[in-house]
Amino acid sequence: MSLPPSAGGRLAVLRTHLSLSPAMASEKAAALAATPSDGPTIFDKIIKREIPANIVYEDEQVLAFRDIAPQAPIHILIIPKIRDGLTGLSKAEERHCEILGRLLYTAKLVAKQEGLEDGFRIVINDGPTGGQSVYHLHIHLLGGRQMDWPPG
Ligand code: AMP
Repeated sequence: MSLPPSAGGRLAVLRTHLSLSPAMASEKAAALAATPSDGPTIFDKIIKREIPANIVYEDEQVLAFRDIAPQAPIHILIIPKIRDGLTGLSKAEERHCEILGRLLYTAKLVAKQEGLEDGFRIVINDGPTGGQSVYHLHIHLLGGRQMDWPPG
């Protein structure tokens, strides 16, 4: 069935407004499919070097590596090497204050290392509604393009 040109035009506009990019759609699907859990995650395998990762920074407490599905020219994940109950930010307790500060400070260090002099964004997704898919606390560091607001 063919649509009159005006209807076809409206549909195209609707599609443009409503459609998600494949990357956005798969991230959302991954977050909704993930079960919040304190079991091991893929990040444990990266920490133990059981699977490859593009590591850009490491110290005794923190590891930073490039996201496998980058949402910006620079997209790096910053994680505590020892999760210590921090499956997500919502599980943070007073005892985590030091590592939380360390993660944020590392984001700044890595941003500088990556040459993000003009700015960057950090993101922490929490829980299914927040779009979290890996239950090991991580900061997303995004940069290298102009960011939009609000995020999706
Ligand atoms: P979130 O959705 O906030 O939990 O973020 C998890 C992130 O981990 C996503 O951006 C994924 O692309 C990323 N990711 C998953 N597996 C890997 C991996 N093996 N190496 C690097 N990044 C990964």
